[in-house]
Amino acid sequence: MGQALKLLYTYPDPIQAGLLSSLLESRGIATLVRHQYLSGAVGELPPDAIWPEVWVLHESDLPEATQLLAQLHATPTATGEPWRCPHCGEMNEAQFALCWACGRETP
Ligand SMILES: [Zn+2]
Repeated sequence: MGQALKLLYTYPDPIQAGLLSSLLESRGIATLVRHQYLSGAVGELPPDAIWPEVWVLHESDLPEATQLLAQLHATPTATGEPWRCPHCGEMNEAQFALCWACGRETP
């Protein structure tokens, strides 16, 4: 069967899920975010059942996606402040060690 949808990560926060998805897409990895918008099903499901999920569309991309995910969570900036990417100028939250837009590392 080779190619299959793989669940990469579940976030309690749709913004973080979107950032991870953007980072992976910037590296050419196709993703799907499920439950990104929480308003619809609230009240019908337990809270953890509607956490946003980031899926990788192609199983062959999973090793690289997992590596990027690990980098993303590995080294928050020391300042705890949002930082501006020197490569593309995008603002990034402090907990992200890689630029969500271009995937470069924090300076
Ligand atoms: Zn950037």
